Order: sequence, then C-alpha cells, then structure tokens
Amino acid sequence: MKWCCESFQNSFNNKNNRGFAYIIEKLTSDDELYFFIQFRAVEEGKQQELKSNTPVSIEGKECIWFCPNCGKNLKKFYKKSMKEMVAQNE
Ligand SMILES: [Zn+2]
Repeated sequence: MKWCCESFQNSFNNKNNRGFAYIIEKLTSDDELYFFIQFRAVEEGKQQELKSNTPVSIEGKECIWFCPNCGKNLKKFYKKSMKEMVAQNE
C-alpha cells in the first residue's frame, strides 16, 4: 500500500497509544468511511488510572479531509486502500 507521506503512515499506526493518531472509521449516520485525527492523553485501557478533581479530556477526535502533513485529499488518495486500512486500524 502506498502512503501519502511518512508522517501520516507513522501516526496511522498509533491508534491506541498516547498522543496523536490518524484513524479511519464509519459514521453510523451514513455508513461511509471517514478519516479522523485522534488525541489520547493515556494509552487505551489506562483511563481508570487517571485520578483528578478537575475534569480532563482524555480522548478527542475530529474528522479530517486533508492530510495535515502533506495536504493530500485523503478520501481521494486512499480511495482504493480504505478497506485495507480499516482492517489495519482495528
Ligand atoms: Zn500525507
């Protein structure tokens, strides 16, 4: 599979780790695949270990249409690879 850039490839493989990751998911509203940028404060499964009296966002994600690193249109660039990417991203 061809990646748009090395930064996207590296962050795509970072889904359950702390920090930023690019992920691909279906929206329940229209059953189509979309790209997201995700941020995690802690690794997947470690959320309960955080104790704070102040509300903390431990995870967040936003839909993205273009690669933040190289600017490629993601749905256009990965049109033929999206199903393979879903399997890799799970
Ligand atoms: Zn890119």
